[in-house]
Amino acid sequence: MRVIVLGAGLLGVTSAYFLRQQGHDVTVIDRQATPGAETSFANGGQVSVSHAEPWANPGAPLKLLKWLGREDAPLLFRLRADMRQWMWGLQFLRECTPARTRHNIRHIVRLGTYSRDTLQALRRDLGLEYDQRTQGILHFYTSQKEFDAAEAPAQQMRDLGCERHVISADEAVRLEPALRHIRPQLAGATYTAEDESGDANLFARELAARCVADGVEFRMGHHIIALREAGGRIAHVEVTDDEGRYQRITGDAYVLALGSFSPLLVKPLGLNLPIYPAKGYSVTMPVKDASMAHQVSLTDDEFKLVFSRYTSEQGDRLRIAGTAELNGYDRDLNQVRCDAIVRRVEQLFPGAGDTAQAQFWSGLRPATPSNLPLIGQSRVPNLYLNTGHGTLGWTHACGSGKSLARIVSGLAPEVDFAFVGAGAARSPREALAPLAQ
Ligand SMILES: Cc1cc2nc3c(=O)[nH]c(=O)nc-3n(C[C@H](O)[C@H](O)[C@H](O)COP(=O)(O)OP(=O)(O)OC[C@H]3O[C@@H](n4cnc5c(N)ncnc54)[C@H](O)[C@@H]3O)c2cc1C
Repeated sequence: MRVIVLGAGLLGVTSAYFLRQQGHDVTVIDRQATPGAETSFANGGQVSVSHAEPWANPGAPLKLLKWLGREDAPLLFRLRADMRQWMWGLQFLRECTPARTRHNIRHIVRLGTYSRDTLQALRRDLGLEYDQRTQGILHFYTSQKEFDAAEAPAQQMRDLGCERHVISADEAVRLEPALRHIRPQLAGATYTAEDESGDANLFARELAARCVADGVEFRMGHHIIALREAGGRIAHVEVTDDEGRYQRITGDAYVLALGSFSPLLVKPLGLNLPIYPAKGYSVTMPVKDASMAHQVSLTDDEFKLVFSRYTSEQGDRLRIAGTAELNGYDRDLNQVRCDAIVRRVEQLFPGAGDTAQAQFWSGLRPATPSNLPLIGQSRVPNLYLNTGHGTLGWTHACGSGKSLARIVSGLAPEVDFAFVGAGAARSPREALAPLAQ
């Protein structure tokens, strides 16, 4: 089959790789000059099965109310005259019940575990190098209340096979000595030894290069204008190339992997995807004093920040990422938020990073209300979805790409997940088909 993959972010590239492995003739289209140049550019780097608690959980509505209007809030709704934002917000509230939260965690952990295994196999088979670290993820708490509340989800994750262990503050400092400065404030931590980190952008570019070597065509610098339907199927996509020339590109099947822009392109087809952009920030800085910098990938529960460290011959960098702002497609860097991140880094690891050389970035997470991505066949039979990965697009990329390629090829996915459409019918789990209507 000739398959057209729309988007060359993490999800488009992994889809293309696994589709090619299934023997398809694959073309990837993206408006940027290189793969992974939008939301997959400078994320937090964590491959975190343990980070399975969705934003929507029983404690979220109260916290969101408290944070409304606070410029440095970890999760900020900027209410707009935007029907899509309000609808998304209502669906988000529906996902906050204990039952929905448990359901969503179950599916996020399953896809995460499968995806991490798939990433590890790919790294082994292809010899990929992307500044990866396999020292686990340590999630630390500075609030006793939040630490106590972490026990139940950690237990649920262990029941689901994700070995997220609750550890004392002293054990946390033993695992990551760089935490010694905040030892007096530490209430405790959880540690997941199997989780990893790595530069997602480097991974996307490395895997794209392998795809090209395998015969996948990348049409970069091509702006997708519309998907045209005829006889109930996608007939072609319309694009303009890097010189503004109009083209039609035709395939047997199409994979929608346009991140936060996915809903905009399929709206004219009558598909309402519950995806809304959640802007996040990252800061990247060279390591100044290696003895003060963390080695293990970390999650700071209080500030909702994740910390990774990328070390290679090209240099030693700290990457700190987090915060979420629901404010449409705006990507402006808010200085208050940038300063708050740098302040926190200095507080935790004084002198570790060269803050004078800090590079700030923002990206739009394609967020669904449940945190579950939309993977599978849409109502338009030759249009497939691999989008809506929100906070966990790097963690879920390889498992989503492989599952999507199997669904397009008429094979059952290898993981029990809430796939959409016909993919759902093939694997024994609760379907989320109505979401993709
Ligand atoms: C601050 C931050 C921290 C994060 N940290 C982590 C983390 O630690 N771990 C984790 O697992 N996940 C993390 N994520 C989430 C992860 O980065 C995303 O889920 C993932 O990058 C989404 O990939 P994607 O391929 O769906 O979207 P994208 O990477 O945005 O790819 C979509 C592609 O579509 C192209 N495109 C869009 N519209 C058009 C058009 N009209 N024509 C042509 N091309 C188009 C874009 O150019 C882009 O390349 C983080 C995200 C942010 C913002």
